[in-house]
Amino acid sequence: MTSPGNHHDELPTNNPHYSLLGSELKLFSDAGFDMDKIHLKRNAPVAQLYEDAVQKEGAVISSTGALINFSGKKTGRSPKDKRIVFEETSKDDVWWGPVNIKMDEHTFEINRERAIDYLNTRDDIYVFDGFAGWDPKYRIKVRVICARAYHALFMHNMLIRPTLEELENFGEPDFIIYNAGQFPANRFTAGMTSTTSVEINFKRREMVILGTEYAGEMKKGVFSVMHYLQPVKFGQLSLHSSANEGPNGDVTLFFGLSGTGKTTLSADPTRHLIGDDEHVWSDTGVFNIEGGCYAKCLGLTQAQEPEIYNAIRFGSILENVAYDKVTREADYSDSSVTENTRCAYPIEAIPNAKIPCIADKPPSNIIFLTCDAYGVLPPVSKLTTEQAQYHFIAGYTSKTPGTETGVTEPSPTFSTCYGQPFIVLHPRRYAQMLAQRMEKHKVDVYLVNTGWTGGKFGVGKRCPLKYTRKIVDAIHDGTLSKAEYEHFDVFNLSVPKHIDGVPDELLNPSNAWADKAAFKQEVNKLAGMFNANFEKFAADVSAEVAAAGPKAA
Ligand code: ATP
Ligand code: MN
Repeated sequence: MTSPGNHHDELPTNNPHYSLLGSELKLFSDAGFDMDKIHLKRNAPVAQLYEDAVQKEGAVISSTGALINFSGKKTGRSPKDKRIVFEETSKDDVWWGPVNIKMDEHTFEINRERAIDYLNTRDDIYVFDGFAGWDPKYRIKVRVICARAYHALFMHNMLIRPTLEELENFGEPDFIIYNAGQFPANRFTAGMTSTTSVEINFKRREMVILGTEYAGEMKKGVFSVMHYLQPVKFGQLSLHSSANEGPNGDVTLFFGLSGTGKTTLSADPTRHLIGDDEHVWSDTGVFNIEGGCYAKCLGLTQAQEPEIYNAIRFGSILENVAYDKVTREADYSDSSVTENTRCAYPIEAIPNAKIPCIADKPPSNIIFLTCDAYGVLPPVSKLTTEQAQYHFIAGYTSKTPGTETGVTEPSPTFSTCYGQPFIVLHPRRYAQMLAQRMEKHKVDVYLVNTGWTGGKFGVGKRCPLKYTRKIVDAIHDGTLSKAEYEHFDVFNLSVPKHIDGVPDELLNPSNAWADKAAFKQEVNKLAGMFNANFEKFAADVSAEVAAAGPKAA
């Protein structure tokens, strides 16, 4: 379909920044693109991507200037459809199994061809060239090729945007994403189990997406590539964490699974944001992999999370967020499309972001975030070196029961390295690198439960954000490193007796729970789940680390 505005809004073809010339174009024809037919828009300006998304994809401009877009049927990642190509250059490094499902090279070729054939049927093909990794020593050049302006704008926000000069001299990318998400995989192709396929080929340095338009697949695809390349090629440690920096240059890493608070707690008006989700702890410091943030929008309010709320403006993409048809105001309380409503914005939209997003020091504090819906873990505890290693490998959080299913029990999630879906190597390799770095730099490690307190889901309530922020402040101003601690049984944790601004009785769950018998039962139940989960890792760690887990009483 050619839209009426399609011709006057084209970029001038002789602009060296936005057009691909000569040898660069040959890469496209060699890949199978029909260069006589398709029209490439490379690194198109945000305003043009807005126009195209509005004209061709039914996007809407929100009252604050953000672009409201919808991802179709898939509103979250599809981990069961994510595959890694089994090939000789990477096969001995990849941790094969349910996280990294094998795909053969031939099937990859079939899907890649299918994606390119589909893209050839479109009038406009968007290309975004950018970087992953702020440290020039360790960054990679990523090219995104897609058919939706929404996907191009998403990656414009999430990758590191090149300067005009960098764009002109971009050269061959290190990694290419072919996103044909509007078109399904063929279920009769060998190895396909659904119409969705997300696949990475480390040898070809390519990713192909079919059958899902959820933009987060591209972002987390780049993360998987970094989880492979950083340790294997550069000897550096990639992390599923957010990071920020205090006024004195001290760095904090916040690890945690989805929904535990990485994005929320790293946006802190008293500290500089380095990044909200993906980092590398290098031999010289910490750098962000991304050029933007991807914040959850459900329940977002200006009062509680002003930095994120105010970042939702021109250039930002609101994904699957319902809006008022008259006023075009986004409704952050509405989960009718999905619970996983999101906003993607360039990191500069956070006022105190640190640009470039690099800290030249190792972290001083590490915070493991967990959202414990059993209400058993203390809001904050200080971990020993062994406990830190244990909890990193365990990677505990929990999901709250879905309102629609009528289930009242929370479900535990153990996701190793606090990021199991994204790791590529065996978890022991990340864990060993982390242990060495923590040991070398004598980092303080805390476990912070942003989940339930005073009872499990249904009885207690989620720890109010204002208290979690006070806890994080007490870590940053140094008071928690010297505070007085008491012992928390079963999990053998050290719990502070007092933190300014937080009710004392909240700090120790055995006081916070009114029903003491119920508390004892839940503590032991959760401890049992920790122990059962850790069995598969026991052989990979020292006896001291294995013994640092909970002991049911
Ligand atoms: P993802 O990996 O999916 O990006 P995330 O770790 O970045 O997840 P956030 O986006 O920070 O998670 O989500 C935390 C959510 O929980 C936010 O919606 C926040 O408002 C809410 N929340 C409620 N109470 C707390 C608390 N005490 N601490 C942190 N977040 C809280
Ligand atoms: Mn996040």
